[in-house]
Amino acid sequence: MTRDPLAAVRPEIRALRAYRFDPVPAGLSAKLDFNESPADVPADAKDAALAAIRTRRFALYPEFGSPRLRAALAASVGLSPEQVVPGNGSGEAILAAVSVFAGCGGALLLAPPVFSLYAQMAAIAGARVETVPLAGDDFRLDEEAFLARAAAGERTVPLLCSPNNPTGGTVSRDLVRRLCAVSPVVLLDQAYVDFSEEEDDLLPLLADLPNLVLFRTLSKAYAIAGLRVGYAAARPDVAEEIGKAILPFSVDVGAEEIALAALARRGEVRERCRGIARERQRVAAALGALGARVAPSRANFLFLVPPGGDGARVFRDLRTRGVLVRDQTAVVPGALRVTVGTPEENDLFLSTLKEVL
Ligand code: PMP
Repeated sequence: MTRDPLAAVRPEIRALRAYRFDPVPAGLSAKLDFNESPADVPADAKDAALAAIRTRRFALYPEFGSPRLRAALAASVGLSPEQVVPGNGSGEAILAAVSVFAGCGGALLLAPPVFSLYAQMAAIAGARVETVPLAGDDFRLDEEAFLARAAAGERTVPLLCSPNNPTGGTVSRDLVRRLCAVSPVVLLDQAYVDFSEEEDDLLPLLADLPNLVLFRTLSKAYAIAGLRVGYAAARPDVAEEIGKAILPFSVDVGAEEIALAALARRGEVRERCRGIARERQRVAAALGALGARVAPSRANFLFLVPPGGDGARVFRDLRTRGVLVRDQTAVVPGALRVTVGTPEENDLFLSTLKEVL
């Protein structure tokens, strides 16, 4: 008798729709679908990293615990190395924290529309998902409702994304403080904070909120999405617990070296992010003038419903003309998300959009 392996799959995994993307079309003029950096890591940083990689023995595992990377990540944001847990992208660190705090029967409290992988992480960890949806044209968080839900469940773990993917909005310092007062632990993903205002950087709160866990990535502002480095930041003893849910050696030698080289050029990164924020304002204003509904964003992307409301058609027509944005119509009727690219890419997006409208 043969057994059916699919019958042995956990029901919450069977119920998940696999995360899938269409292949990127050839000959694209502007790839504005993934919130990636329009500029690559500077050539001299790449060369420095490649030279360092060349001296390493590939036969050996990376240094256990990535001490150099941990120290550099910590120094880049004014923390101590014990407060930082590096991961293979911040996704790995977030999954670890979700498992540690909400896994095996807890609940993850989300404010959708939000990064879709959080729900997948909850399923993997065996956590339920609870939601307090964002409301109104500007996708505002109902803070009181969110606080009440966070306080209601004994194993309910709030996870907020600020700036939020896909809408671009941010949460206030005050809300995070209040959440930390009612919830045993609060998770806060700041993947896009480098494109935001100084007041949105909530990392300084770690100094007096022992139950706050923050996530950062080098995939966006630092332009190294292809090499996978992110981290969790928390109080040292909390960081140690999160680290238990990450397998040893998850950050490889190549990722570590390119991260070290990129972190050494923080000034350039800051400058580039300021430029992207200026472009975001310009593109948002142009979209508004075209009659699109644009959510207020502090990230490197904009969430919009084009005039006429037929986002799916606009998405297809843009793609046919070589401009790839993200179809979000399954998330919010008619909606698209567009990454802020180079000024030339943004001009091309705007002129192509005018054409297809
Ligand atoms: N958080 C958010 C909000 C994201 O949008 C992403 C990537 N799209 C991630 C985390 C994960 O990024 P990475 O694993 O590359 O650090």
